Amino acid sequence: MGLKVCSLSSGSSGNVTYIGTDRTNVLVDAGLPAKYIIKALKDINVSPCELDAILVSHEHTDHIKGVGVLSRKFNIPIYANEHTWEAMRSKLGNIKSNNMKVFYTDMDFYIKDINVQSFAIPHDAAEPVGFCFYYGGKKISIATDLGHTNSRITKMVMDSDLILLEANHDLQMLQEGSYPWPLKKRIMGKYGHLSNEQAGLALVEMLKGKIVYVLLAHLSKENNFPQLAYETVTGILKSKDIRPGKDVVIDMTYREGVSNFYHIE
Ligand SMILES: [Zn+2]
Ligand SMILES: [Zn+2]
Repeated sequence: MGLKVCSLSSGSSGNVTYIGTDRTNVLVDAGLPAKYIIKALKDINVSPCELDAILVSHEHTDHIKGVGVLSRKFNIPIYANEHTWEAMRSKLGNIKSNNMKVFYTDMDFYIKDINVQSFAIPHDAAEPVGFCFYYGGKKISIATDLGHTNSRITKMVMDSDLILLEANHDLQMLQEGSYPWPLKKRIMGKYGHLSNEQAGLALVEMLKGKIVYVLLAHLSKENNFPQLAYETVTGILKSKDIRPGKDVVIDMTYREGVSNFYHIE
């Protein structure tokens, strides 16, 4: 029983998250070469033949790189909203028409026994979404690739048992780093990525709900490192009298390798 979740990889170079129940196995995004994803699935004892769906949050390469190959190789249905399909269609290669599934942003649907709810997020893609997954009274949410959060997103995720939340960059590292100015501007912008500080402040609001576990995700390789993200976020929580390790567990995801495996029962 219960919902299972594990980040197989997370960061600006590629994102894949596993969500499952005893009967159902789903990937959210497949932004690395299929070879890597197959190996990572093996690490958590899931066979790619058992995958029931790949859900796509948006068409950026770090979310779709392995989608086409996995779908062809293992006959896996791909779920995305209409504008994401339009934007990624030509990048996936040939996909069997009965593996092309369309969902509508903000409307829920089922992958076998998992109830899926998508919600719009502010990001510079065609129709980017975050996801909430429901099964057996448990809820897991994914919110990465957001330029900022808003009350609607907070409300969507605040009663999750676990949330995967973006902590992309340290603002100072980004500002002083080697990225060209237009890219810096894009990342910092309202439709770019969430900084460590923004993630911490967003969490203060989200934690007015019942969230138990938070996985910090989509860390930049150039402009962040795990310890800095962790310390910035937990520092903000402590300043608001939220005790990390006691009131909430803050954990990490990794660019190269799987995160802790959570079984929420
Ligand atoms: Zn993106
Ligand atoms: Zn991304």
